[in-house]
Amino acid sequence: MSYPTWIPLRKDLQELTAYGAPQFNDVARLNTNENPYPPSAILVKAIAERVESIAGTLNRYPDRDAIALRTSLAGFLNELSGTHFASENIWAANGSNEVIQSLFLAFGSRGALGFTPSYSMHPLIAKVTQTPWSDGVRRADFTLDATAAAEQIRKIAPSITFVTTPNNPSGTTVTIGELKDIAQAVGEVSGLLCIDEAYAEFSSEESAVSLIEQYPHVIVIRTMSKAFAFAGARLGYMAAHPEVIAALLLVRLPYHLSAITQAVALVALEHRKELLETVDALVRSRAWVADQLSNLGLRVLPSNANFLLFEVSTPTQVWQELLEEGVLIRDVGLSGYLRVTIGNEAENALFISSLKSCLERKS
Ligand SMILES: *Cc1c(COP(=O)(O)O)cnc(C)c1O
Repeated sequence: MSYPTWIPLRKDLQELTAYGAPQFNDVARLNTNENPYPPSAILVKAIAERVESIAGTLNRYPDRDAIALRTSLAGFLNELSGTHFASENIWAANGSNEVIQSLFLAFGSRGALGFTPSYSMHPLIAKVTQTPWSDGVRRADFTLDATAAAEQIRKIAPSITFVTTPNNPSGTTVTIGELKDIAQAVGEVSGLLCIDEAYAEFSSEESAVSLIEQYPHVIVIRTMSKAFAFAGARLGYMAAHPEVIAALLLVRLPYHLSAITQAVALVALEHRKELLETVDALVRSRAWVADQLSNLGLRVLPSNANFLLFEVSTPTQVWQELLEEGVLIRDVGLSGYLRVTIGNEAENALFISSLKSCLERKS
């Protein structure tokens, strides 16, 4: 896109396009890895009551350190992973994308490394924060070779290394043992290892939060947008050594997290059992969709997330035809592949039947 010359847009941004996954109504929205199950009536009521109870204080700025929320998030991780985090180990922001932006702003001086294909926002936010970005390599099947990754880290010596596990868009995971080897290499180059665990709740692998005690340069990024079924509230967070969090505070905007966001996220955490109940159903549906794709003769990557990456010979055409049938999935720009989010049972069935007709028309 080209912008009028009277707009003094920074040169390095002129080549970019703004993030824009399509948002359409009246289709099965299987393109942004949201949880398809809306909040229950009980949760809706609890949220409404909590918002009402704080509405009378909205003339005041929120708690800029979000202590109550960070304490509750620490408790949540401790419960899941047996860690001993307190509020000083946690940072929260408007989606994990804001967490990632803060990491680049604070720690990006020597550049960042990520292993592609992976989450496209990592290099994009790097660019916007003027952080030099290096593309590391994965195996041909999109799994990460930890030994090769460690070599790349030692050679490039970035101040930030990203590992996304389960990886988006492939769904593949890195084991905790492999993460230790990677953390070792990152430590040798005095960098930070940022493990993006946006899909951790769907995974059978152990969370990397347990590494932080032994490796203080490890950061684990999580979000309420996926398993937690709370994408609309915009709440992402990270766990790290307290000194890392203290340094990060230098770049946060004052009062960045609204009183409403903090209050509503606290209610969601209080209802965590109910919210995470959908995870098992989605994991079962993931197996069903994967089987159906295989039955259609398509190769599917093994996924530990709430989406599947599958091979198809004409992705752009298939994507378009599915949309005409009312199913919106994701063309992640990988030649020969499409990604589908696991939806509710009706959406999954519609996706499979539409894809089947589409493939039949082609043959
Ligand atoms: C969806 C996703 C996120 C984040 O999103 P927020 O909604 O900003 O919390 C972060 N990382 C990965 C790998 C994702 O897929």
